Amino acid sequence: MTDPTPKTTVFEYMSGLARELGAINLGQGFPEMEEPPELIAAAQRALAERSNQYPPMRGLPELRGAICDYYARTQGLDFAPDNVVVTSGGTEALAASLLALVRPGDEVVLVQPLYDAYLPLIEWAGGTAKFISLTPPDWSFPLADLAAAIGPKTRGIVLNTPNNPVGTMLGRGTLEAIGVLAQAHDLWVLCDEVWEGMVFDGTPHLSPLAVPALADRAIKIGSAGKIFSMTGWKVGWAVAAPTLAARIAGRHQFLTFTTATPLQWAVAGGFALPAQWHEHHLARYRAAKAQLVGGLEAAGFAVLPASGTWFVTLDLAASGLPADDLAVSERLVREAGVASIPVSAFYAQSPERGYLRLCFTKQPAVLDAALERLAAFRAAC
Ligand code: PMP
Repeated sequence: MTDPTPKTTVFEYMSGLARELGAINLGQGFPEMEEPPELIAAAQRALAERSNQYPPMRGLPELRGAICDYYARTQGLDFAPDNVVVTSGGTEALAASLLALVRPGDEVVLVQPLYDAYLPLIEWAGGTAKFISLTPPDWSFPLADLAAAIGPKTRGIVLNTPNNPVGTMLGRGTLEAIGVLAQAHDLWVLCDEVWEGMVFDGTPHLSPLAVPALADRAIKIGSAGKIFSMTGWKVGWAVAAPTLAARIAGRHQFLTFTTATPLQWAVAGGFALPAQWHEHHLARYRAAKAQLVGGLEAAGFAVLPASGTWFVTLDLAASGLPADDLAVSERLVREAGVASIPVSAFYAQSPERGYLRLCFTKQPAVLDAALERLAAFRAAC
């Protein structure tokens, strides 16, 4: 077993370096754009007029209902509040789910590049991971590798769509094929969908819960931090069949017990906003993405296509740079004054070294300044 206490994450490291060096931080994924005033007003009203005491353990019924309505409206999913457990961010939903599902000795298949919380949580529960990897540069899903990775001790698979860091999404065909394997081997499927609301190219988001073979064996993780751009609020949830949801609630009960009551009310208020609000909110991010991608391409960088998340990926070799993401990101922050995240940090095994992640949810002037620095860096290479 690897050290169960992971080192400081690459995000902390890069943000720390950016602060120390006064670099522009396109590393860690948080928006530095106008925060939605409607959500702030809803939180202020909730603090003054609603409760500041413990809410029900599984979350305010009003919020759980609002989450169900949102998924019915946006993804055609039919859930009841009994399917939902509100947690302190998507992170706690992942923790509660993995602690509920993984038993000592269980094997879980993880798909690289992967979000950093999955592996330590599985190991804390006494499980071990088997790794498969998306295939660059289009990051296609390796179904044959998944089939080969499933063994007698395999109990589950963790998926992430849209994918952080590379922004690609799983389609129906892939999810149906995963459903066939999950049924044949009696596996659960934990799907991290925190980026579901941040899709910019019109690709419909599809949850494993929408695939009949997975409806009773999948868990969907969501986060208001991403949908409403309030990453510091840490309001998230897990959605699953009622028996699975009850098991997850059993872990949530002793992790945090509940999640900040006024922020739950504020998020419920956010879900009551009309669809046009979400379109308008997304439009600002879409413009920021177009600005960064357009500027990078004009400067000769090769940017890989991505449907969702707040990130774009640079293909280093195709950009005329060394395919060594650790070295390039270190030089970029120190010499050019722009922090990025090496995609190899999202691997536990056999990392891809040729890709860098950049976050675009910044003010236009900040993106312009970063582009100027990046262009000068590439021209000098
Ligand atoms: N999963 C993924 C893939 C993420 O990118 C993030 C946040 N960066 C999370 C989970 C955590 O979400 P939250 O902030 O709601 O805990």
